[in-house]
Amino acid sequence: MSRSGVNKDYLKKRNRGLVLQHIATERCVSRVELAREMGLTKTGISAIVNKLLEKGCLTEAEKEKESDDAAKEQGRSPVRLEIGPNSPKYAGVVMGRGYAEAVLCDLTLKMYKYERIERDWSGAEELMDAVCSLLAHMLEDRDDVIGIGVSTPGPVDVKRGKLINPGYFHNIRNLSVTEPLQKKYGLPVFLDHDVQSMALLELLYGSGKDYQDILVLGIDQGLGSGIITGGRRFESNSGFPPELGHLSIDHHGNKCSVCGGIGCLETYVGTEVIEKKVEAVLGRKKDYQAICRMDDNPKVRAVLEEMINDLSCAVVSLENTMNFEIILLGLGGVYWPERYLSMLEDIVNERKFSNRKTRTLVRKVSFLDKAMVLGAVCNAINKTFEGELWI
Ligand SMILES: [Zn+2]
Repeated sequence: MSRSGVNKDYLKKRNRGLVLQHIATERCVSRVELAREMGLTKTGISAIVNKLLEKGCLTEAEKEKESDDAAKEQGRSPVRLEIGPNSPKYAGVVMGRGYAEAVLCDLTLKMYKYERIERDWSGAEELMDAVCSLLAHMLEDRDDVIGIGVSTPGPVDVKRGKLINPGYFHNIRNLSVTEPLQKKYGLPVFLDHDVQSMALLELLYGSGKDYQDILVLGIDQGLGSGIITGGRRFESNSGFPPELGHLSIDHHGNKCSVCGGIGCLETYVGTEVIEKKVEAVLGRKKDYQAICRMDDNPKVRAVLEEMINDLSCAVVSLENTMNFEIILLGLGGVYWPERYLSMLEDIVNERKFSNRKTRTLVRKVSFLDKAMVLGAVCNAINKTFEGELWI
């Protein structure tokens, strides 16, 4: 719990951020809806909205259609509010395994620029050079960018803005990320774990919009995780995000080459592990996407069903710990045929201990190929929504 009090100035900024969030994410479209959603008076909302209109952060769109009976009875139509063209812009960059990707967008995630570099990084210097070259392009000829969001594979130290020692990451370790970028561009930089960033993206704009407790699993070579609890992204006091790929499902199991532990979940369900298992039963190599399309092959199906059983072992324990409302599968998980999502959902609901009256849902993330980079930019955008980052 925070020990700091809040002053009037903070409340003002927070309310302003919330108005922008509700309009940008289309939860509300008018002053009346904002007042209802935020529990403020119409006068209070109008004061905030008018300030944002003055700054050009919001704009009033065309009047609602004449068929809006309720509004007609009151003699006027509600005015539709939209994010204005002069609203702040944000840059986002992903430091990925074998690639770096950047985006420039506004509060609605409208993309103004996008660029990707694919390379097998020789080390930290080459990666940081690529990040700087991408950011230079994103920020070129712009004076309206107010923050940069960054994401990297974990473990990361979110509070100190450092990448620690991710597995399978070109031997890049202990790299300070936010400090050099802040110095170079004179803008605030916000770093977070890649799948935690994706979880924030889903909470604000995607399949998690209507939920407060969300688990996101990013199935890759490793297994990344994102946790939203009580409508907020989970943040530990140490600054380290959750690493559920290293949750053990068998204390006599596989040795994990990344953390040194035994029985880590990602050693059973990571994409490369599944590719190796399928190669062993078919006698030929197939990539993960192709494997997911080969569901009609009984040998492949057996491997995928075993994967779901292994995964469910961890997910049921997590469900019993955190009572998630929805579990979202991302990265490699978006290629799964629907029956494996249903299978996981059935197992979780059969085996979970508490809250059996409410079905825990298992779905895919809404943002597919751009999820990583849009997640990264959300690390900065969310600071505006929270009232901490302003023009
Ligand atoms: Zn491990």
